[in-house]
Amino acid sequence: MLSKLYFLSVVNMGFETDRLKKQITFIEELLCVICHNLVDNPVQHAECETLFCKDCIEDWLTRDNTCPVDRKNLTTEMLRPPPRISRKMLESLEIRCDFLSRGCTNYETYENIKEHEESCIFNPKWENDYTAHLKEKLDQQQVEGLSLRTELTQKNKELVDLKEQLAQKDMEVVNMKEGLAQKDREVVSLKERLERRVLVCSRRPRSPNVS
Ligand SMILES: [Zn+2]
Ligand SMILES: [Zn+2]
Ligand SMILES: [Zn+2]
Repeated sequence: MLSKLYFLSVVNMGFETDRLKKQITFIEELLCVICHNLVDNPVQHAECETLFCKDCIEDWLTRDNTCPVDRKNLTTEMLRPPPRISRKMLESLEIRCDFLSRGCTNYETYENIKEHEESCIFNPKWENDYTAHLKEKLDQQQVEGLSLRTELTQKNKELVDLKEQLAQKDMEVVNMKEGLAQKDREVVSLKERLERRVLVCSRRPRSPNVS
């Protein structure tokens, strides 16, 4: 039989069993005898009831026209859909996205995993799109950052203006207080002058013609 590694390079293989969310009993019944992974797009050789990935067995049959298990005559036309029980077992499985190492932690049902991987944003196939998307987002953020900075500068200017206005008002208050103190001093000095006058008047001798 051809080695597993040989198929790695040419055939779209089944799903590695460590990608299953839950291990199940009789998992070996769902493994492809060629790639040893969980069958992908399964078909069976009706005579020996062996399951294969469609790609694996078709690739095999391009070089050999016998079943790799029982060595009986086998052609692609003789391949059949898998039995219902195998299909039901497969449908119950959840499989991890193949792009875990690139950052995807999704699990999908056996039915949907291929479709998910096709559209998964971690699929290298979309790398250019994703990079472009990230770049666009970054540009957008830079523009937003710039406008925020402008707004901040404007706010700072307003703050400086307000501080100046406040200082101006403070100065006015100080000036008014000084003016008031000056007036107080004038009042005090006027009062003193008045009191001195009154004192001088009261000490002045009476005029002779009055006595
Ligand atoms: Zn296979
Ligand atoms: Zn067979
Ligand atoms: Zn994914």
